[in-house]
Amino acid sequence: MKLAIQNLSHTYDIEVLKNVQLELDDYNAIGIIGVSGSGKSTLLRLMAGLEKPSSGDIFINEQSVHSSSHRDNIGFVFQHHNLFPHLTLERNISLILEKTRHKSKEVASATARKNLELLHLHDQMHKLPKHVSGGQAQRASIARALSVDPEVILLDEPTSSLDPILTHDVLSAIENLRGLGKNFIFVTHVMSFVRDFADYVIFMHEGEIVEHGSPTILDKPQSNELADFMSKVR
Ligand code: ADP
Ligand code: MG
Repeated sequence: MKLAIQNLSHTYDIEVLKNVQLELDDYNAIGIIGVSGSGKSTLLRLMAGLEKPSSGDIFINEQSVHSSSHRDNIGFVFQHHNLFPHLTLERNISLILEKTRHKSKEVASATARKNLELLHLHDQMHKLPKHVSGGQAQRASIARALSVDPEVILLDEPTSSLDPILTHDVLSAIENLRGLGKNFIFVTHVMSFVRDFADYVIFMHEGEIVEHGSPTILDKPQSNELADFMSKVR
């Protein structure tokens, strides 16, 4: 995918993104790292078009993220699964396809099942979210993001609420999606996943992109900020 971030600033009470600029061509899996509060989630929400930046713009595949066609073209996976609690995993997906993509009941249900199978949830799809593990629920929300067939999937710390074993399950499920031809932009604190999966890494610190490049930047930090960050994560 192409990603262009142009003069992007965003202010809540304080300025949380400070004139961020970046132009990338042809990467499929962009990992965003940095300490808490550095602006990663804000950047991801702006990329999703969920919020409007105070100034500047973001283009994904040459389309402004404010366009309505962009919003139809992304899937978002949040820190917590946010599935509807009263619906089965399958219905969580098929309902969205019926209501927002105007699919027939049959097509919606088949698409839901296909994507749940892709995430190895074939034997869980008739259960409610509270009757599956946190890792399975998170995999279901990845299946839900995939089911609208977006070009880009954004994931904000998809494993932050999971124990190490479930984290491993979810991250390997994401790695197995590599062949689908989708693009991923993800925030994570799991550096092994960044090394394995990302083809580009963005390191944020206090609302700025301090370093960016191939995952090898993790091994040879140029800035004190990234060196310090890498000494604290594994
Ligand atoms: P990260 O995801 O890297 O932890 P965030 O983007 O969530 O960082 O937050 C960056 C800064 O913006 C933090 O100081 C946070 O407190 C602040 N912030 C984030 N969202 C809001 C909001 N909706 N209202 C006010 N401040 C916010
Ligand atoms: Mg965050």
